[in-house]
Amino acid sequence: MAGQGELFETEPNPWDMDADAQQVVATVVFPEAPRGEFDYSIPDELAERLKVGARVRVPLGRGNRTLVAYCIAIGPKGTHRGKLKAVSAVLDDPPLVSADILKLTQWMADYYVCDLGPAIEAVVPAGVRGRAGTRVTTFLDVPTSVAARISAIKLPAKQAAVMNHLIAAERPLSMAELCLAVKCTNSPVKSLVGKSLVRSTNRRVFVGDPEAVPVERENAWPLNGDQRLALDAIEQALEAARHETILLHGVTGSGKTEVYIQAIEKVVSFGRQAIVLVPEISLTPQTRHRFRSRFDRVAVLHSNLSHVERHGEWQRIARGEVEVVVGARSAVFAPLPNLGLIVIDEEHEPSFKQDSVPRYHAREVAEQRAAGAGVPLLLGSATPALESWHAAKAGRYTLVSMPRRIMDRPMPHVGTIDLRNEFRDRSGYRGGISRQLHQAMRAALADGGQVILLLNRRGYSTHIQCPACGGVVRCEHCEIGLTHHRTGDVAICHYCNYQKPTPTQCPDPDCRFDGIRFGGLGTQRLEAEVMARFPGVATLRMDTDTMQGRGSHEAALDRFRKGEVKILLGTQMIAKGLDFPNVTLVGVVNADTGLHLPDFRASERTFQLVTQVAGRTGRGEKGGRVLVQTFNPEERAIKAATRHDFVAFANAELAEREEFKYPPYSHVIRLIFRGEAETATDMFSQQVAERIESLCDEGRVSVRLLGPAAAPISKLRGKFRFHLLLQAVDRTAVTEILRSVMLSTKAPNGVQWVIDADAIAML
Ligand code: ADP
Ligand code: ZN
Repeated sequence: MAGQGELFETEPNPWDMDADAQQVVATVVFPEAPRGEFDYSIPDELAERLKVGARVRVPLGRGNRTLVAYCIAIGPKGTHRGKLKAVSAVLDDPPLVSADILKLTQWMADYYVCDLGPAIEAVVPAGVRGRAGTRVTTFLDVPTSVAARISAIKLPAKQAAVMNHLIAAERPLSMAELCLAVKCTNSPVKSLVGKSLVRSTNRRVFVGDPEAVPVERENAWPLNGDQRLALDAIEQALEAARHETILLHGVTGSGKTEVYIQAIEKVVSFGRQAIVLVPEISLTPQTRHRFRSRFDRVAVLHSNLSHVERHGEWQRIARGEVEVVVGARSAVFAPLPNLGLIVIDEEHEPSFKQDSVPRYHAREVAEQRAAGAGVPLLLGSATPALESWHAAKAGRYTLVSMPRRIMDRPMPHVGTIDLRNEFRDRSGYRGGISRQLHQAMRAALADGGQVILLLNRRGYSTHIQCPACGGVVRCEHCEIGLTHHRTGDVAICHYCNYQKPTPTQCPDPDCRFDGIRFGGLGTQRLEAEVMARFPGVATLRMDTDTMQGRGSHEAALDRFRKGEVKILLGTQMIAKGLDFPNVTLVGVVNADTGLHLPDFRASERTFQLVTQVAGRTGRGEKGGRVLVQTFNPEERAIKAATRHDFVAFANAELAEREEFKYPPYSHVIRLIFRGEAETATDMFSQQVAERIESLCDEGRVSVRLLGPAAAPISKLRGKFRFHLLLQAVDRTAVTEILRSVMLSTKAPNGVQWVIDADAIAML
């Protein structure tokens, strides 16, 4: 898009000029409806302030109600006929969205098949849009022309004092500052403004600045050979100032973070800044400390920031005052003026995909951004996503491996416990902890070690069933069984949070059997079991039920680190990133919880979870071991995880994906339809599918349609759900068709549909 500057580079002959075509217009998009781009004329008085990326206020429709919009281009009017409405106000100067971020949102809108307005809206935090923590203050100064002839101007004493003070001041002063200094009221100042001797301008200022926490500096570790090789690869790309994606496959505890930090030190020495993306759950004080102890100016963007704090950080970042931004997914949009490197730690984590519009994946966005800026992207993981692994094997990413732990510490020994045997011989097995696991826990505790137990299901009993009719107690709004929670004795839907008192009687009116049973093991019940088995041993449960308050997660980890807590049990929340040298035993209570979900990534997720939690032990001198309880010890994911063999797992799994043309051998685009009327929703999904199919036939675009069918969770929050999966090798052709279907198809009232490109969630 031509900028305003370039437009007038070659002056056209006046007699060729068509006044109308020469008019410069602003093209805007709206954050919500209406969709599409709209042109507005720019009044002269706004021309200087209006820049691409700024928000504007514009009139819309017959009634000319004014709406906020984003200016995405300024250019010649072109072929547009008729008189345009004019922009009524410019809201941001400097613009809110920089040119490179705007380009990124344009790419997102294309790639993820969504509208540009909502995409832009999503990259600017609400606190920034609302300018949280700022207020408008009037600043006063004396124009130079007035200052030059001040001796010739006769004024009353107070006014003269004001003038003299203002001329002597090195910067414009606020009314309060000025009145305080001259010991006067507003009125002499106002008279001077009235006489145009003092100029008053409104500016937005921050009310308070974010506090700086002083942190003791720590030194760099001398790198070991593997770390050195990894850093060399990154430094080469940095020095060549070229874009390259480097996949750092390093086992748990191999010292990846130290490599990130030293790479960023290099970036900072070039006068540039870096972004480090980590999963939200890893934004622990430990992580923050690691960066704060090594860099002077770090911004940590976590979800608990207030609007004011987030806005403050955003401004600091935009002014180039921050060397490193550490944050979750959306930090990929941080407005660093001179980006030098993007790092994504635990790049395989599904939380890097946003599950609302725009449904972007931070890894994909980071790659676009890094490519645009000509800087490297560094992806790190012990269990890379198969997409990334495939890209490395295909030569699109540079692969660097760190197959050993720091200080040559051995990987923990991982044993499996076959739960089928435990069930055959019921004598020693009651509840969730097998005899073997119990003994291992006892030994670890007796040795002064700490224990982590993973069970990826919260609640007490994970299903509530009537033994007489077999009926399962379900949510009233979702096609989901309720989970019994002992606290408060309630049955809760884990999808919509619907709650009711746990029934004692079968809710089926035809049955009403009085003796409902609870089955399935959740973390609450596991906690009760642990406390019964190990009375007096300090135990802590960590899941979304216990970790609700602000800071509770950090407080819990702190108690575990100090050794006040001996047994930490919880959901996947405890599986990631924690570095506690005294953990000598990890128990996976049930490795199968995610194995049989209807999702082609189920096996990959299981492998990742078991490997990650296994990585929490053996980090200190005492070593460590892992016990994995499973009904499926022969399953590839579980076998490979017990052998720490990512490569074997990845290669076998990829061969299977290739056979079925699953990603990374295709793109999966998921369309989700939902509505309160089941038939109407179903019919609409079929209509869309037919339309896509016929357009693909017409354009000879090869695509595989799966469905439409009821989604695995067929009802959610009172709405029926259907989904359609498109598998395509040529993604561009399919997204173009989808866009045209999206723009030309109107869903019946009460039915919504969304497009999830590169879907990760399959339920
Ligand atoms: P990863 O992210 O690969 O799991 P970490 O970066 O957490 O591994 O490193 C594990 C531990 O090893 C950390 O406590 C870290 O401080 C330490 N460490 C990192 N590099 C070195 C090194 N070169 N020498 C000694 N210790 C190191
Ligand atoms: Zn529900």
